[in-house]
Amino acid sequence: MPNKPSGLVKLQFLGAAGTVTGSKFLLTANDRNYLIDCGLFQGADRLEQQNWQPLSIAANRISAVILTHAHLDHSGYLPRLVKLGYKGPVYASEATGELMKIILPDSGYLQEEGANYANKHGYSRHKPALPLYTSDEAYNSMKNLYSIQMNSPYSVDNQVSVTMRPAGHILGSAILDISVTNNHARHRYVFSGDLGRYGMEITKEPSLVSEADYLALESTYGAREHVSNSFELRLESVVNETHKKGGVLIIPSSAVGRTQSVLFYLRKLESDKKIPIMPVYVDSPMAVDATEVYLKYKDEHNLNTQVLEKRPLISSQTRLIRKVEESKELNEKPGPMIIISSSGMLEGGRVMHHLKNRIGDPNNTVLLVGFQPTGTRGRMLMAGAKEITIHGEKVPVIAKVVWTDELSAHADFNDSLRWLSGFNRPPKTTFLVHGEPDSLSSLREKIENKYHWTVKIPEYLESFTLD
Ligand SMILES: [Zn+2]
Repeated sequence: MPNKPSGLVKLQFLGAAGTVTGSKFLLTANDRNYLIDCGLFQGADRLEQQNWQPLSIAANRISAVILTHAHLDHSGYLPRLVKLGYKGPVYASEATGELMKIILPDSGYLQEEGANYANKHGYSRHKPALPLYTSDEAYNSMKNLYSIQMNSPYSVDNQVSVTMRPAGHILGSAILDISVTNNHARHRYVFSGDLGRYGMEITKEPSLVSEADYLALESTYGAREHVSNSFELRLESVVNETHKKGGVLIIPSSAVGRTQSVLFYLRKLESDKKIPIMPVYVDSPMAVDATEVYLKYKDEHNLNTQVLEKRPLISSQTRLIRKVEESKELNEKPGPMIIISSSGMLEGGRVMHHLKNRIGDPNNTVLLVGFQPTGTRGRMLMAGAKEITIHGEKVPVIAKVVWTDELSAHADFNDSLRWLSGFNRPPKTTFLVHGEPDSLSSLREKIENKYHWTVKIPEYLESFTLD
């Protein structure tokens, strides 16, 4: 006989609590468990080790996984969860599903490669080094992936329904508006996922949500204000300066979202004759595939047919590189040229080889265009490190390093406060997640001062009973 349901709704934070990665929130209603996002921890070693820790719940006790978007820190733990015994459905928007099919196997591949490389060169702390999951395991983890249409409620089961609303962050990204019927009452639990910005050229604005009983809000830039529309100017000056020196401009960039935005602005500057047309190499098979998905879902962002006809993402000198041999050939090519390659925070991927090869030359520039979490090489470069370790080897940093958050796909505190103004009553509690400690406390203060809401900053594994 099954136990009588407890009638309680609980929320436990299994990741992105006090940090920006590993998003995983366990919503339990009537003893049924729903995992909201299934993200990898990334960045500092200490965080990455957490991917190996047992979950606070047995994987086979989870009834459903619901994802906000395809970025690895929101979807990249899924293959591990399936490996641990999860067999249930995985819900995501259609575009998110397509992007996951590109991102997850690549993540498995990078982990296999990382483990092989570490074993070969003997710098792993585990012997032998193992991948968290393989590329094949990543493919197989998506067998039960179901797509949910934006803006229409979808019944997950007889007590939970979810409405996905466009979040304006990357293609397919959604705010999850989850309704739970419990003891004949209905409550709404809203998870912002990664929230986009207002007034951006490429992404649409985050959708308004008017009500939530409880809200989990991301806080990546909770302490910062983005300078709007300045990325184009920054890119113009960095490209021209590097071109003048005959150097190589390396833009480490996440393959999904960021790379497409960088290409858009490069193309725009070229056609406005603000920068010379020079070779641009997109050295990431994943970015090439993701660009195709962007072009398929034209209604979900502002790169519509009209814009793209006038100004395709790819110019006469843009080369999309898939093969490893072609990637290696780039090592021999002289500047001026631009290499866009992932990962954006310099934690693996082909960009590591380019960095190792080019960072010792004063004519070259590294342009960091995304959020750089603590403990990543990106963050170390941003902080002015004179030396970084790549593949176990210390490499001096001689090239110029420029960091900008102007292309960020995350709301700053003004965007977040503006989005919150759409709520017609305060949530009982607003949980701030997906932020480093200063961003979290800064955003809490701003929300408390402006709206007088109850705001909590959950700790890793902290659990709350929601009424
Ligand atoms: Zn994201």
